[in-house]
Amino acid sequence: MIIKRGKFWKFLGKFFYEWTKFRTLKGASFRRSRESAMNTSRSHRIRALVLALLLMGIVVGVARPAEDYNDARQAMVTLQLKHRDITDPRVLAAMGKVPRHRFVPGGMAAMAYGDHPLPIGQGQTISQPYIVALMTEWAEVKTGDKVLEVGTGSGYQAAVLAEITDKVFSMELRPELAREAAERLESLGYSRVRVKSGDGYLGWPGEAPFDAILVTAAAPRVPPALAAQLKEGGRLVIPLGDPGGVQNLVRLRQTQGKLKEEASLPVRFVPLVRPPTLEPAK
Ligand code: SAH
Repeated sequence: MIIKRGKFWKFLGKFFYEWTKFRTLKGASFRRSRESAMNTSRSHRIRALVLALLLMGIVVGVARPAEDYNDARQAMVTLQLKHRDITDPRVLAAMGKVPRHRFVPGGMAAMAYGDHPLPIGQGQTISQPYIVALMTEWAEVKTGDKVLEVGTGSGYQAAVLAEITDKVFSMELRPELAREAAERLESLGYSRVRVKSGDGYLGWPGEAPFDAILVTAAAPRVPPALAAQLKEGGRLVIPLGDPGGVQNLVRLRQTQGKLKEEASLPVRFVPLVRPPTLEPAK
């Protein structure tokens, strides 16, 4: 029995009314004959049982946890990730754990596990689950790796990274998005993720070098500062190409001071922009 919150006080009122009646009858029953007292005691037991069930219903209804979308999340991992080409168990476990529905605007929670990107405000988007998983797999993130994300957005990609390593640094140009993402990450237990509001085109020199850098906004070419902040053997995953059209998501590896391309996939990302005009990076 599930009781909606709005009806809670009505049920509570009824419960106390019934309870008072029960107490009064109990007092009266002492003055009755033995036979009628037995009848009354049976009806009391039935009444008490009904009241107990009512009370259980109230407790279950009020204390029912919010929808956790676990079934939808596990289906997403199987159908959208495993059935494609995501194989890294760390990535699959992380994607199966992070509550993606908490990173999308309130009214869109039910759509969070669909095979598509979603708007997150200010003209920006949270990437399709498969792209988040692929970027994480291509970045070859392992426990203890130091990772930089450029383009925090909702904070979802940062949370997925944080399930694998505790050294996640994420930069977001739009201060409002940076603040909201930092608060969201904190409230969901990802408080070790460091979020900084600033131009990710310049990287995070104070924390460099990184084992991996993920750029979640499109640029026509690799920002030089990011190449410089990558360790030898480090991975850079970035959508490269026309910011208004289709780009290629590439995985580059720092090899003897040069970036070597190892994989690519056509994608469409929002542009990496530069302050103060917010024009696409050149
Ligand atoms: N990774 C995000 C989605 C990113 S959308 C998520 O998981 O939700 C791309 C983000 O890059 C946007 O939030 C945009 O504001 C940000 N961005 C664009 N140019 C940037 C820059 N120069 N530095 C940092 N962030 C930038």
